[in-house]
Amino acid sequence: MNDVTQFSAGLSVLEISYILASILFILGLKMLSHPLTARRGNFLAAIGMTMAIAATLLFHEKDGMPIGNIGWIIGAMAVGTVIGWVIAVKVKMTAMPQLVSFFNGMGGAAAALISMMEFPHVSPELMMKSGMANGHVLAILLGLVIGSVSWAGSMIAFGKLDGWIGDLRVKAMKYVNLTILAFIIGFVVFIMTRDVAASAELTHLIIILFVVAVAYGVLFVMPIGGADMPVVISLLNSFTGVAAAMGGFLYNNQAMLTGGILVGSAGTILTVLMCKAMNRSLLNVIIGVFGGGGAAATSAAGSIKEITVSDAAVLLSYSKKVVIVPGYGLAVAQAQHICHELDKLLEEKGVEVKYAIHPVAGRMPGHMNVLLAEADVPYEQLIESDEINPDMPNTDVIVVIGANDVVNPAAEDDPSSPIYGMPIVRAREAKNIIVMKRGMGKGYAAIENMLFFNDKTRMLFGDAKSTLQALVGEVKEL
Ligand code: NDP
Repeated sequence: MNDVTQFSAGLSVLEISYILASILFILGLKMLSHPLTARRGNFLAAIGMTMAIAATLLFHEKDGMPIGNIGWIIGAMAVGTVIGWVIAVKVKMTAMPQLVSFFNGMGGAAAALISMMEFPHVSPELMMKSGMANGHVLAILLGLVIGSVSWAGSMIAFGKLDGWIGDLRVKAMKYVNLTILAFIIGFVVFIMTRDVAASAELTHLIIILFVVAVAYGVLFVMPIGGADMPVVISLLNSFTGVAAAMGGFLYNNQAMLTGGILVGSAGTILTVLMCKAMNRSLLNVIIGVFGGGGAAATSAAGSIKEITVSDAAVLLSYSKKVVIVPGYGLAVAQAQHICHELDKLLEEKGVEVKYAIHPVAGRMPGHMNVLLAEADVPYEQLIESDEINPDMPNTDVIVVIGANDVVNPAAEDDPSSPIYGMPIVRAREAKNIIVMKRGMGKGYAAIENMLFFNDKTRMLFGDAKSTLQALVGEVKEL
């Protein structure tokens, strides 16, 4: 190690930079847990990442030699930065979930590529050894498998969220997936115990492992659909983190290891929370057998009743308690600001207004929190659905804005429904129900919603933003 970069305590500049980067990642993650600090948290983590990359390029040495191919590395980073920047700036807010899935897939692909590149370089001696050395080979194989599954699965999730890939639900898939998973585990053990002179000779096995892992990634996400996508998205997120951590272990890179572990554990915690929120078991997620039959859709029975904007304004203005249920349609319409204006107007009139936040409303975990934080809705006004549900019978009016699946009573009433068992916002228990949407379009799970035919429900048709604008105008007049 270079004397100039070595401190007396024995830590090099590189190691100190990695420790600082790791601290910034941890602080960043902590700050991401609250909308008020999330932006700064993201910025801190980005500084940490920049620091880790710069320190690696400047100070990393192997056998006394600095990093080579600097021109190629910086060139590739520049191309990636420009592409990422342009996509992130141009993406519509409603396409954000697809983008997150795509970026997550890229992380998995990078981890898989690292393993593919590194495996042929494992020395024959290392292949033969046990203990830590074997751990090295295992890290490569796990990085390859988990990274490939994450990449392939995220690409399918990306296609599903973007609407050009549908669900493929065949009962036998559960067994096919389990068989592939068992094969992958067996194959990893087989490669680790191979008694060959050099790992380069095993490269063809690595390619088979990669192909099978990609197939598993595709097949395990294909049957998952409807209301269950959020769970699989957070699971894939954690996979990418674990795969990246394998790379950190491989290169003895503390920043990469910490970053990977943080993403992996945060993703795992989110997956467990999502499973709880959706009333699903994690085992079902892993073997890809979600929900009910999928085709189950109740036929529209009964008739719907509409309400005019002025009647809705009167009803809201003279209520004591109003609960707003935001959903994906609010994000599509970009109506969060005008929605907050309505709630402020009502509060000025003495109405208590709360938002019921369902864990899977929208198209990504925390979507509604992010959307409403952008409009500066106070955090205290956002109440988790299971907390607000007991108060529903005391709610004068519940206003469902661009939400559908998360208020669908089929989740409680219809065992054949694909969303059966998912906790919902119990809108039907409120005294009056106003539903704002453009027409009778279905939600993500593509099933009928009997709430719209409920006796207490009045439909207020139109794009959420223009309807809310008209409503705000009317409420101001009262
Ligand atoms: P839904 O997708 O169930 O329903 C959205 C509704 O919004 C539609 O019925 C649509 O009806 C209406 N809508 C669309 N555009 C507008 C507009 N401009 N103005 C007014 N209304 C509009 O949304 P929810 O939030 O209730 O549920 C989310 C669903 O997405 C769940 O099934 C969830 O599992 C799934 N999902 C969630 C993810 C997450 O992480 N949160 C990830 C992936 C999937 P109409 O066409 O008639 O206007």
